[in-house]
Formats: sequence, structure tokens, C-alpha cells
Amino acid sequence: MPSSKTRIAIVGGGVAGLVVLRHVLSKLDTYNPTLFEQTDQIGGTWVYTDETDVDKHGLMIHSSMYKNLKTNLPKEVMQIPDFPFRDQEGPSFVHHSVIREYLLDYANHFDLHPYIKLSTLVKHVEPETLKNGQTLWTLTYVDLETKVETTKTFDALVLCNGHYTVGHVPHIPGIDSFRGKCIHSHQYRMPEIFAGQKVCILGASWSGIDIALEVSEYADKVYLSHNLSEVDSKLPSNVEQRPGIESIKENVFIFRDGSTEEVDSFIYCTGYEFTYPFMSAKVEIRTNDNHVEPIYKQFVHMDYTNLFFMGLPAYVVPFPMFYIQAQYILGILEGRIQLPSPQQMRKEFEAEKQSLVDQGIPLRYINKLKDKQWAYYDEITAAAKIPSFPPVIRMIYDHVSKMRDINFTTYKNYKYRIIDSENFSVCYYKPC
Ligand SMILES: Cc1cc2nc3c(=O)[nH]c(=O)nc-3n(C[C@H](O)[C@H](O)[C@H](O)COP(=O)(O)OP(=O)(O)OC[C@H]3O[C@@H](n4cnc5c(N)ncnc54)[C@H](O)[C@@H]3O)c2cc1C
Repeated sequence: MPSSKTRIAIVGGGVAGLVVLRHVLSKLDTYNPTLFEQTDQIGGTWVYTDETDVDKHGLMIHSSMYKNLKTNLPKEVMQIPDFPFRDQEGPSFVHHSVIREYLLDYANHFDLHPYIKLSTLVKHVEPETLKNGQTLWTLTYVDLETKVETTKTFDALVLCNGHYTVGHVPHIPGIDSFRGKCIHSHQYRMPEIFAGQKVCILGASWSGIDIALEVSEYADKVYLSHNLSEVDSKLPSNVEQRPGIESIKENVFIFRDGSTEEVDSFIYCTGYEFTYPFMSAKVEIRTNDNHVEPIYKQFVHMDYTNLFFMGLPAYVVPFPMFYIQAQYILGILEGRIQLPSPQQMRKEFEAEKQSLVDQGIPLRYINKLKDKQWAYYDEITAAAKIPSFPPVIRMIYDHVSKMRDINFTTYKNYKYRIIDSENFSVCYYKPC
């Protein structure tokens, strides 16, 4: 007898995939899920490795974690709402290994392992739309150990393949003549190798500044080159801000203000590309200008409402956001949430795009939610008929942002404690 359960394929065993799986499993009578993970471990980008190139199967190393990385959000904000960190004491900004342990605990607690296929790469996804309008998803996947390839069909597909692996590398005139070490932040692991050097870091988003701080402890000089407005935060004395790079001539970097510097090593902290290499060309996915289209509410494909993209929004609280998005997905699949017609979704999206264009804001900012994130969560939770986040989460988030703007070198030293849904305490934490 064929099963009447909805077959759900989840691509990727990072936090997004695990959270989706946990919610699907809460309705085992309804769903039959399979999570595919290409590496031999769960945790996605939180699985640190010294490797930076390819793995034993020739696949790109997925993780972009660096050795000393501490989270940029406090654990009180990062934690998944139904699974608080066991240790509510200790520092708020924790080493990446603490997050990895947390995700392993999460998978054990919700008994996710029986539904996870490790070392299994999803190679190809093909849609098939039936006469009744329903689309089925046929996945071709390979067991990387045995090399056995399998093809299987599912009723819904959730893409949780992450997007911090393929670096965005802007072309700089003369880069080919540069003789020094040149990496993308995806390949950055530890600062010691830059001891005594002059290092240029391009990009002053979170990774750019964080890596500049680490490297400055060993390097002679760090040039933080970017086209954003000047970083106001206090920075170490050997970190100098420069505008973007105009061109490079061997080891001489020419910046947009005409200044020049000799540089030994160069790190691109210029962000990442969204990639879905396994997806059939029949499915329209546009990823130019660092955002994905045609997507509704940041994660539903407008033409296929049983195809979901996790992890697209930036400047958010990713783990809690996955928790509410996962429940919204189930709302759609169970018909509790009615989506507008594809035409209406496109109309809404085009209006949003136009509003950015009118304000002179590049389209890639469409998924950078920042202050808009709270209204977004309220909207998703209202539709899914689940509680939104208590105000204290935003209050802590805003406090962190303020402290980061004041001093990037010390904001991770604060310890936050949630008192109740509207109150928190904060103190300066001195590691013993
Ligand atoms: C350096 C760095 C620091 C960060 N710091 C923070 C922080 O402090 N706090 C915070 O909340 N967030 C942080 N983030 C954001 C972080 O990426 C998200 O919090 C979250 O981990 C994203 O999870 P994900 O599941 O979407 O993707 P990932 O964790 O990237 O997981 C994707 C998974 O999909 C698998 N996969 C990909 N393609 C396939 C395929 N074809 N077949 C099978 N499996 C596949 C990969 O192997 C991987 O395991 C940071 C990100 C980076 C890169």
C-alpha cells in the first residue's frame, strides 16, 4: 500500500534542516521526512575544520568557521525557543564549539538521527507537475561512501543547503599581479599566520571587522578597506580604515582616495553567493545581486508553494527565525495558511523592490532585514498561529547592536540574562 503521508525532503543538516526536521517529526502521522546531509556530520557551518579546500570526496569544504570564532549574538538571543541552552550561566558570546554541541544535543533530544542520511549528496532535483496541478520533486542522491545513486520522489522540498560556502569575489584590476597570500574569508582559519605582516581586508561587514580584530593581534598593520561609511567603533591602533580598492600592482594596493600601501596578504571579506547547483533548470531561481528570486515572504517559491528556501534573510536571529519559518511551512502544507496567487505574490514582491529602487537602495538589501525583522517575525507567527518572540529578545538584540557600534573590540564581553519576557540584566563579564 503506498503511504498517504506527505513525503518531505530536506536538503542540508545544518541548524535550518534540523529545525525543519524537528517540526515535521512532531506530526509523524502526517509526514514522512528524509534529511540529506553531504558531510558525515550534522551542524553545517558550525562544524569547524582546519581544511579549507576540498574534502575526501572532492567536495568544497562547507564550513566557514574560524578557529577562535565566538558568536556575534548572545546565546540568550540565538537559542531556539523550544530548546534553551542548558548552561544559562557563563558567557553570552560563546565559542563555535559550544553551538556545535548544542546542535548535537538538539538532534538527540528530538531523536532526529533516524531520519538523517549522512554522507549523502543531493545531486539533482527535478520537478514534475501533475494534471491536478500538484508538483512532485524527484531527487537524485548519492551515498558518498558506497557511491550508490538513488532516485526518489517527494511531495515537498525544503532547501537548507546554507549560503556561506561559495565566496563572492569582486574583480579588482591588477589582482593577478599580486604576489602575496590571497584568500576569501571562507578559507580564513587563524590569525597567527599573518604575524608581522601588512594585511589588507576588503569588506567591513561582520566578518571583515571580526577578522581584522583577530589578525591585528599578530599583524604589523591591517588596512580595512571598504565602501561603507566609516566604522565609528573603537578599533585597535594598528587597524586603519581605507576606502575600496581601485587597483593592485604587484604588492601595492591603490585605494579609491588615491592612497597606496604595500600589502603582504589579502583577505576578501566580501560575502557569499547563493547557489542551488542541484536544481533543475525548469525551476526559475535567480540569484544575481546577492538575493534570490522569485521568493515570497523570504522563503516560499512563488510558482511552487511546496518548495521552500531556508536561510535567505540576513541581519536576523537565524535559529529562532528557522523555528517560526518551519511552523509556517507546515501551515502551508496542511492548508492552514492560504497563500495569495502567484500573480499577487509577484505584485507584492515587485512593489517591495520598487520601494527600494525609489529610495536608491540596491536590490540585494531586500533580504537584509535588520529593524524590519521584528515585523517579519510577527507576520509569520500570526499566520502560523504561534506566539511571536517576547519583547526581551529584541531588547537584548538592540542592546548588543548599540554596544557593537560603540566598541567592536569589547561588545562580546557582556553577559546578558533574561529576567522575564520584558526584562533583562546585563553586566560586563570577565572571563576567569
Ligand atoms: C563565519 C560565520 C559566523 C556566523 N556567526 C553566527 C552567529 O554568531 N550567530 C548566528 O546566529 N549565526 C551566525 N552565522 C550564520 C549561520 O550561518 C546561521 O546561523 C546558520 O548556521 C545557518 O544554518 P543553515 O542550516 O542555513 O546552513 P549551514 O549551517 O551552512 O548548513 C547547510 C548544510 O547543508 C549541507 N548541504 C549543502 N549542499 C548539500 C547537498 N547538495 N546535499 C546534501 N547536503 C548539502 C551542508 O553540508 C551543510 O551541512 C555565522 C555564519 C558564518 C559563516
